[in-house]
Amino acid sequence: MHILLIRFSSMGDVVLQTATVNWLRSLYGKQLKVTFVTSKEFASLVEGHPGINFVLSFDRRKEKWNDFIKRLDSHTDLHPVDLILDTHATLRSFRLKLSYWGTKQLTVDKRRWERFFLTKIKSVTVRRLFHGKIFGLESQVERIITDLQTLFGDTRGVSETRDYRRGPHQEMTSLADLPVYPIAGKYIVLAPSASFAPKRWGIQSFVELARELLKETQLHVVVLAGPDDKFCEAFDVITDPRFLNLQGKTTLKESMQILARAEASVGNDSGMNHIAEAYGVPVVTIFGPTSPLFGFVPHGKKSGYLSKDLWCKPCSTTGKSPCYRKEHICMNEISVGEVKAMALKALA
Ligand code: SF4
Repeated sequence: MHILLIRFSSMGDVVLQTATVNWLRSLYGKQLKVTFVTSKEFASLVEGHPGINFVLSFDRRKEKWNDFIKRLDSHTDLHPVDLILDTHATLRSFRLKLSYWGTKQLTVDKRRWERFFLTKIKSVTVRRLFHGKIFGLESQVERIITDLQTLFGDTRGVSETRDYRRGPHQEMTSLADLPVYPIAGKYIVLAPSASFAPKRWGIQSFVELARELLKETQLHVVVLAGPDDKFCEAFDVITDPRFLNLQGKTTLKESMQILARAEASVGNDSGMNHIAEAYGVPVVTIFGPTSPLFGFVPHGKKSGYLSKDLWCKPCSTTGKSPCYRKEHICMNEISVGEVKAMALKALA
């Protein structure tokens, strides 16, 4: 059985599809061959995953789409394909599926209409009206498993997330591979970035949180963020030797190595926390303009999330739209004390 699994982006969604891989692997065992098709910038998230046989990546900056399809067609290892599993469900994945016309294809419902509906009638109303009967608070991994059971008409695959947490890249999780940035002792990760600015908890709140955690625990505090996240310069005021700001200094693989060994991770509704959870690390997720009802709540036993019930929330399906209120209240109302208390619980 050869399955072509499609998920081009984004970081968190690609990581979450390792749950799909584990579910399929538990169903078909060694007979299964999985080819994971993704974007070049996210390929390292799934390369080396024990359940994936081959990762095929598309670099949209360097390769034309038709050349990518030709490369795919000419790759003898990629044929024949028995099933295309499209978890991306966009025009791009549709075009890829066209070149496999005649092959069995399944497409995962991304519940776009649900999210759109939520942005119109808002989470508070939904909770009041439906009491979780229609829009539940299950995690994305639980949704993935339910969807797969329906699509495949089979409930034998793993029903828990435990197998997902054994997760990717076990062979890449040695901190010894990071000689330039050694982190001595146990540590907690702060991930203050997010794909869109409205999804970020205030950077001064993260700075204060770092100080509090240094004061109240024996842990080191490590900041992970991308090269463009210059706002992390705000951490420069912290001089404690147990504090390490790695913004812009690590590759994605190195960030994964660091997250895999963390005691906990605190971050926005973004990819870093999904990576941490894939390694079984407890996380605290801070939701701003997006809603936990979108299905991205953390699922670990010690993990938790913070989200304020506001009439304006969620205001967009992705958290991209600029705030239209005088104050970014969905984030500003979440206090450092609340996040710290949840982080300490995750560490307990
Ligand atoms: S405060 Fe309301 S309108 Fe502004 S970003 Fe948050 S959810 Fe959207």
